[in-house]
Formats: sequence, structure tokens, C-alpha cells
Amino acid sequence: MKLYVSVDMEGITGLPDYTFVDSSRHNYERARRIMTEEANAIIRAAVGNGAEEVLVNDSHSKMNNLLVEELHPDADLITGDLKALSMVQSLDETFDGAIFAGYHARAGQPGVMSHSMTFGVRNMYINDVAIGELGLNAYVAGHFGVPVILVAGDDCACREAEALIPGVVTAAVKQSISRSAVKTLHPTKARALLEEKTAEAIGKRSSIQPLVPPKQPTLRIEFTNYGQAEWAALMPGCEIEPGTTVVKFEAKDILEAYRAMLVMVELAMQTKFC
Ligand SMILES: [Zn+2]
Repeated sequence: MKLYVSVDMEGITGLPDYTFVDSSRHNYERARRIMTEEANAIIRAAVGNGAEEVLVNDSHSKMNNLLVEELHPDADLITGDLKALSMVQSLDETFDGAIFAGYHARAGQPGVMSHSMTFGVRNMYINDVAIGELGLNAYVAGHFGVPVILVAGDDCACREAEALIPGVVTAAVKQSISRSAVKTLHPTKARALLEEKTAEAIGKRSSIQPLVPPKQPTLRIEFTNYGQAEWAALMPGCEIEPGTTVVKFEAKDILEAYRAMLVMVELAMQTKFC
């Protein structure tokens, strides 16, 4: 058995706000240690329940948050930025299941630090389904026939996962009180919960279906302001839906939609310089 683990940061135990997940802020060093221990709990349970290979992908911001020297030795780690498939880099049909940990709710929804990729994105859609990072990443896993078996994060991320992926096991390590306040488990208890839920998800994995993406999906991203939409629409194949800040791209498959999303969001970020 081969498992893939994508680890984001906003949904890690005990973290209420951006002072923990922004590498220039004072709480960040604490947060990355908790994040690493959380990944270790999942790896430990995966290996203890029959995984021969575990690939961990650091999926937050510059994607170099996990402390490799403190990571469980039985996992390989993808670390560093610029990956064509970003939060699901190197996920392919050879995996038996995917686990998303430290995840958060999509933009515009309740949930601690809820967002989709960057501050500039108000909504993302694949065809008419509103999705966030969780949904898009689950579609990529589905493209390769891989089921997402476990999602860990705050209660809102878990609810988003359950609405999208029938039968998925979830582990809510904290409850969102607002976008910047949580009621959290102690990290020690959260690790025990993650070990238990990882074991449960592995046991159930053959009954959880991959989230199959639509063929030739239409990606639509609604930006916060028109300037962001104008930057995103510079990409060939993109167009702004008249009278809106929505930029549309017809993709040949979900992998192309994913890369288009990365480029559009990156272009939209240019508005912070002008
Ligand atoms: Zn993140």
C-alpha cells in the first residue's frame, strides 16, 4: 500500500490566525513544529497499518514548512516551491489513497483562515460546482483514480470534505469560532485522533470512491477586484465574463485546469504591485 499525504497549515491544531502560518510572523516557528508532529502522527499510523510507502507533500505557502530533520524517517518528503501540481505534486495512479491534513474551508465560507489559494480569489468553480483547494486537489486525485480517504483540519474543512466526498473519514482537530479564533484540541490529543482516524480511513479505503472530475472542465475564478481579473485574463484562452470579475478557462482535463488556476492566481497577485 502506497499513501499520499498533502499537508497544509491553516488547519493544523492550535492555530487561530496568520501570525502562525506566515513565515515572517512571531508564532510561525511554533506552528511548523506542531505541523511536523501532526504529519508524523499520520505517517506512524499509516506505516503501522500496512503502508509500505508514504509520500508527504508540503502544501502551504512557500511549501518548505515541514522540518525534514524531525519528520518520521519512513516517509519521503516533497519540499520547496514551483511544482506544476502544487498541493498534489507527484500524486499519480500508483497511490492507493490520499490524505489531506491541515486543510481549511474555501473562500467566503465560515472556517478558520478560510480562503482559496490567495486573498484575491472570491470563488472558484469547476463547471457549476463551487470548490476550494480541497475540492480541486480531490479532483486531481480522482483523475488518477485515487480516493481521498481522510481529511483533517478545522470542523468547517471537515464538513466541506464530507459534502464533496461520500464516505470520507474526517478528523476535526479544532472548531472554528470565527475566521480568526478556534476552540482547539491539545496537540497531544489531536495526534491521537489523527492516528485513530488514519487507521480507520485505511480500513475503509476500498469503500471510498475517487472524486472523478468532469471531462473537459470549465474553470471559473471570481476575483475580488476587476484588476485581478484583467491580470488573470492575460493568459491565452482566458476571458472575463462581461460585467463580472469572473475569468473563464475551458480546459482539456482537470490537470490543465489546475495549472491554469495556478497561472491565473499568480497573475492576479500582480495587482499588489500596482
Ligand atoms: Zn495554506
